[in-house]
Amino acid sequence: MKILVAEDSRYYQRILQDTLSNWGYTVVLAKNGVQALERLKEKDGPKLAIIDWMMPEMNGLELCKKVRETLDNSYIYLIFLTANSNKEDMIKGLEAGADDYITKPFNELELKFRLKNGERILNLENRIMQLALTDPLTGLLNRRAFVDRLVSEIARYKRLGQPLSLIMVDLDNFKKCNDTYGHLVGDEVLKHVAKCFSQFLRKYDFIGRYGGEEFVICTPGVDASVAYTIAERLRKSIKHVNIQQEEGEPLQLYITASFGICEFSDKIKDVYDLIKEADEALYQAKANGKDQVVIKN
Ligand SMILES: [Mg+2]
Repeated sequence: MKILVAEDSRYYQRILQDTLSNWGYTVVLAKNGVQALERLKEKDGPKLAIIDWMMPEMNGLELCKKVRETLDNSYIYLIFLTANSNKEDMIKGLEAGADDYITKPFNELELKFRLKNGERILNLENRIMQLALTDPLTGLLNRRAFVDRLVSEIARYKRLGQPLSLIMVDLDNFKKCNDTYGHLVGDEVLKHVAKCFSQFLRKYDFIGRYGGEEFVICTPGVDASVAYTIAERLRKSIKHVNIQQEEGEPLQLYITASFGICEFSDKIKDVYDLIKEADEALYQAKANGKDQVVIKN
């Protein structure tokens, strides 16, 4: 795990570097608050930080406030490690948003266990985020998380001037499958489809479960005709599944789905418009007799 050390004293830099790496942390060093903020803002930057109070350029107190004001989409656990040992400063530090406060010179074991506390909080936060963003049955992004990601991806590809396509998928006759074999089998079918799709997608594509038996896939960087090729591959990948039942032979099912594609263009207002257009193409695929891919024209 990465840990940021914001510290201007060479003496403490060295002690912390040695101690923390002995405990298995990867130390990211910053000599002042400005540098520290930059490191924390980086994608995949440290989520755990030990910060000194007195530092040039930006002190620990300001750093703490800045982190809480500007980095609100993922939690950073902040521990003050400072020579300021009076109660008033400690309260100021906590008020500025620090999670914990340790005074110098510090006790190694105390630091170790306070870091463990921080890790515990961060792990919980991670789990909550996972739960909030994923569909529990398939492990795919849920609708909200998918749409959020799509919004930022559209903005990015507009800037780059590159194409982006959306594929909407709906399993054919799924209600009948549920009615005939029960919901547990239906769930297995959904998991099977999610697994096949995930295996056949490219690295930059992302997928979500949009509703009951509806999936949605974004293929950045490709136009509708390439998206068509991808969708065809997905369509063929799901057809045969064996579902283990509690008793007897595994159930052999034949699964099909209909696909609708829309490429993002100037005619499309926003993300919901894009989804609507792809959905219309999907509807067309159903009307044409299902088990096929249709591009919105
Ligand atoms: Mg200092």
